[in-house]
Amino acid sequence: MRRFYINPGNINETRAILTGPESHHLRVVLRLEAGEKIELFDGTGAIYQAVIRDIDKKEVLLQTISKQMAEECGPSVHFAQALLKGKKMDFLIQKATELGIEAIHPFTSLHCAVQPSYDKTKRWEKISIEACKQCGRPKPLSCYPVCDLSQVLKKGKSHDTKLIFWEKEKAALDLVLQTSVQSIFMLIGPEGGFSDGEVESALRQNFQPVSLGRRILRAETAAFCAMSIVQYLLGNFTHGKKSI
Ligand code: SAH
Repeated sequence: MRRFYINPGNINETRAILTGPESHHLRVVLRLEAGEKIELFDGTGAIYQAVIRDIDKKEVLLQTISKQMAEECGPSVHFAQALLKGKKMDFLIQKATELGIEAIHPFTSLHCAVQPSYDKTKRWEKISIEACKQCGRPKPLSCYPVCDLSQVLKKGKSHDTKLIFWEKEKAALDLVLQTSVQSIFMLIGPEGGFSDGEVESALRQNFQPVSLGRRILRAETAAFCAMSIVQYLLGNFTHGKKSI
C-alpha cells in the first residue's frame, strides 16, 4: 500500500487532508483515485489506514479507517557524527533513518574540514521523513543542532553505553557491547579523524574505544558499518513489531 506523510494537525480518527508535495505525489505522480486505500504516518509514531474520498488540484480528502501506534522496542541508539563535507551529512541522515537510529547529534571537532554554516536541522528532519516514507519507519529520527565535542561528550551521560570508534583501538564491537544495553551513544570522527587528546577526553568521560577492524575506513563508511553492526548485535535487524 502506498504510504504518505501527513502533518499531525491534518488528521484525526475520522478524516484527513493531504496537502502540498504529498498531495501532488498522490495525485500527479502516482495518479491514485477516489476509493483507493493508502497508509499515512504523522511522524509521532501513529500509522493510519485511510481511503481516498475526494481529490482536487490542491488537496486530497481522506476518510481514516484505522489507527495504530508503533511500539517502541529494543535499546535506543543515538549516533554522534563529526560534520562531514558536502552532501555526506544528508546521505548519513537518510541511511541512519533506514537503519533505525533514534537520534543524530552532529558535532564539530579539531580536524573537521567543515564548519556549520546555518542550522540544517529542519532540512535533515525533512530528509528523515522522506526516508521514513520509503522504508516504512513510523517516526523520523531526532536531529539535534550542531554542538562541539565537549558538549557532545556530555550528552553521552544519559546513556548506559558510550562508544568512540577509533582506528587505533583493537577491541571489537561484539566484545564491548553488553547484552543488557538499554541505550547507546556512539561517536564517529570527521574525515580528518579524532586527535589523541580528543580521544583521551572521551575516555575520561567513560566512553569505550572500539575498532572496526584493521583497515582505516572513510568516516561515512565507518558510520554505516558502526550503525549496522550495532543494530545487528542488538537484534534490531529482525522482523519484530513495527518500531522506530
Ligand atoms: N584521518 C584518519 C582516519 C579518520 S577516519 C587517519 O587517516 O588516520 C574517520 C573516522 O572513522 C575516525 O575518526 C573513526 O571514528 C572512524 N574509523 C575509521 N576507521 C576505523 C576503524 N578501523 N576502527 C574504528 N573507527 C574507525
